[in-house]
Amino acid sequence: MSNTAKPNRFWSDKTRLVLMLELAVVLPAAALVLVSVLHVKHIQRDRQVEAAIQRDFSQVLAISEKQFAHKAYELADDVRNAFPGVTNVCTGNLDKALTSHPYAAHVFFYDPQHGLVFRSQPYRLSEPDFRAEASSSKMYEGWFGMEFDSLHEKLSKMAKKGQPYLVESEYPARGDKHIYQPAFIFAEKDEVTGKKFLGGIIFDGEYMRDKFFPETLEKVMNRNLSEAQSSTEHAVMMIHPKNDSTPIVASAGWDGGTPEVERNMESVFPGLMLAIKLRGTTLAAIGQHFANASFLTLGALSLMLAAGLYWTYRNVSKEMAVARLKSDFVSNVSHELRTPLSLIRLYAETLEMGRVSGPEKSQEYYTIIRKESERLSALINNILDFSRIEAGRKEYDFRETDIAELVKNTLDSYRYQIEQNGFTFEENIREVPPLKVDREAIARSVLNLVNNSLKYSQDRKHIAVNLYPDSGSVKLEVADHGIGIPSDEQSKIFDKFYRVGDPLVHNTKGSGLGLSLVRHIVQAHGGQVTVDSTPGRGSIFTISLPVNQQLNPKPASA
Ligand code: ADP
Repeated sequence: MSNTAKPNRFWSDKTRLVLMLELAVVLPAAALVLVSVLHVKHIQRDRQVEAAIQRDFSQVLAISEKQFAHKAYELADDVRNAFPGVTNVCTGNLDKALTSHPYAAHVFFYDPQHGLVFRSQPYRLSEPDFRAEASSSKMYEGWFGMEFDSLHEKLSKMAKKGQPYLVESEYPARGDKHIYQPAFIFAEKDEVTGKKFLGGIIFDGEYMRDKFFPETLEKVMNRNLSEAQSSTEHAVMMIHPKNDSTPIVASAGWDGGTPEVERNMESVFPGLMLAIKLRGTTLAAIGQHFANASFLTLGALSLMLAAGLYWTYRNVSKEMAVARLKSDFVSNVSHELRTPLSLIRLYAETLEMGRVSGPEKSQEYYTIIRKESERLSALINNILDFSRIEAGRKEYDFRETDIAELVKNTLDSYRYQIEQNGFTFEENIREVPPLKVDREAIARSVLNLVNNSLKYSQDRKHIAVNLYPDSGSVKLEVADHGIGIPSDEQSKIFDKFYRVGDPLVHNTKGSGLGLSLVRHIVQAHGGQVTVDSTPGRGSIFTISLPVNQQLNPKPASA
């Protein structure tokens, strides 16, 4: 048997524990912290990105409004150029301007001398709704009459600043609905006479709705696309009245929802709002998506951390339980060693001093001394085996063996002791196929089981050992009518140092090693050991060794 120690074993156990702790707790905790930091940074960056996108959007809206204004002013200028001068103003001239510009619904002219001349598009005069619009002429007449000078001055100043029109919104009726119609008012001064007048062009509502807004918006969008920044590339736009969020006109791809940024088109189309948003999503939804993903990650990490903590707790408590069992073990073993030693010493001294009454007594003392030394060596063998297993140095010497003979021989040397203790002993050994086993180890397993039956039986002293072949395996049963084992303890009794918490058990000598050795030995033979027990009625321990063995010289330690 090799004697090579494994100096790194203790160290590796500790390292394993530390590694386990690190993996199970420290890693998820570190990841949790890291993700949280990233999360915060991401949120900051997200806010910046969101602000940048909103800035871009505002810019796009401002530029778009300018384009709308430019286009509208172009149209207005066109009509304005066809306007008669102050000297030749007459309905006929105004009508001419109207017929050559069908997108103008009405035009009007005001100077303090002639008052208001208001003309409507002749081809639409058959429509009652349209005809009724002419009533707005009264409003302009009253307004211009009162504020002609100041209005003229204001408009002239505005024109110098590049805004040649004052736009008024009108909402004439079309059936039970209203249509948006902007009126472009401008100031003029006759170069020759120096006379001032005000002019006005009311754009046709239908033309605005069906042509001007859609076409201009498309142009605006095309320009946006050609100058696209990453943020505005997927943007969509629409125009809606200030007090109603339903679009008058929307760009292709408009998918409803709340706009990201809006702009009051006060200077060119008062009462209308230009709105922009991302297609298919919103900034808030993008943020929400990120938040959800982060919460999921954080949740998963927290779960991992909790699982790690639980796992570590379980492992540490297991280690602590083993440590407790170890200290019990030391006191149990010391006790077990002391008792036979004291007996051996006592009887040896008695014999030595010649204080024995006769040869029979001497014989009895010799027997006691032999039996106690046998017990002692069995215990020491168990401890040695155990320490070899723990150190990973236990090696088995598998040889083809007649198991029936091995069991019989083992029991023969023990039968006397069994019967001496007042037990009835029953042996049912059948022929079984030969197996490759470590003779000494198997004999020790049988002895451990029989010895336990002896130790844990009270009034009903009966032990049976059965050996028989059973579908591909050889079974060895050790049955007693002893105190039995509660079912919740049955899985633990094979653990090292474990002893049932029953006071009856604790008054019985034992180290808690026997069954763990049996299990180790049986597993090394590719088999398994099981127990079937009822408290107060007895136990049956069954070792089952497969005939087609998968020998495993080094199973996990006991
Ligand atoms: P011990 O040295 O304590 O006997 P073992 O590992 O052999 O250690 O057994 C572990 C525990 O299993 C024992 O302490 C005892 O509580 C229980 N046990 C083992 N064999 C029997 C049995 N035949 N009847 C009742 N209890 C048993």
